Amino acid sequence: MERGVVFGPAGIPIGAPAGGTADGIRYCRKIGLGAMEVEFVHGVNLGQEKAKEAKKAAEESGIRLSCHAPYYINCCAKEKQKIESSVRQIVSTAQAAYWLGAWVIVIHPGHYMSRPAEECRKLVYATFSRCIEEMEALGVKGVALGAELTGKKSAYGSLDEIIDLAEHFGIKQVVPVLDYAHYHARHERLEAKEDYFRILSEVERRLGSEASKNFHCHFSGIQYSDKGERSHLPISSSSPPFAPLAQAWKENGWAGTAICESPLLEKDALEMKRIYDSR
Ligand SMILES: [Zn+2]
Repeated sequence: MERGVVFGPAGIPIGAPAGGTADGIRYCRKIGLGAMEVEFVHGVNLGQEKAKEAKKAAEESGIRLSCHAPYYINCCAKEKQKIESSVRQIVSTAQAAYWLGAWVIVIHPGHYMSRPAEECRKLVYATFSRCIEEMEALGVKGVALGAELTGKKSAYGSLDEIIDLAEHFGIKQVVPVLDYAHYHARHERLEAKEDYFRILSEVERRLGSEASKNFHCHFSGIQYSDKGERSHLPISSSSPPFAPLAQAWKENGWAGTAICESPLLEKDALEMKRIYDSR
């Protein structure tokens, strides 16, 4: 993997010519971005043929791909049926990722539903284990489950919980996906370089430098209430500010992929790249 941080939008760029995933990928390259997240948030809707076409476009354009699994997954659901459906959604996202040549699929792990975190933890472990087994059985290799830091306090996925998942399974199989906007809404306000430094140092302390030198993360502005996330905002909202994060990355040699989830997608991904390059 090349050094430094590469940037891309969460989904097909707004300005891309009407078409599919492959067109979106080529457009990212054209405007100077280095990554794109393929969104399956409303279901996995990409067949093998289209996926392979997109993989070829990504290889030719040097675009690093990741995928986002459907929103309605709950790996610690109370109902067996919901667990089954979550496993199916995760495994089909992983299958599509494998065809695409994407190395990580981002997952919102689940919801506490008023239960203690400890009770949910065991269920999430069990569901992730099943997904990994089924992926192996299908021959899906080199695709990690990305446990996202979730923005609502009612959702499983605090900073500690996503690092714990990666510790439990090892980072070849499960990686933490930091979402700084969610952290800002859920945990504490991010303002200075030191705030970001603390988060990434914790990742590095518990998972080793392999995790901080090859991270996958999300960034955007965010509107929040005391329950956490409400909606994503453009980077210009500075809530949280991006420049101190770019500075922390540069000073510590931390590298990986940053996916921009602002409503302005590629426009803000380019703005993030500009800020990062100017540090
Ligand atoms: Zn997400």
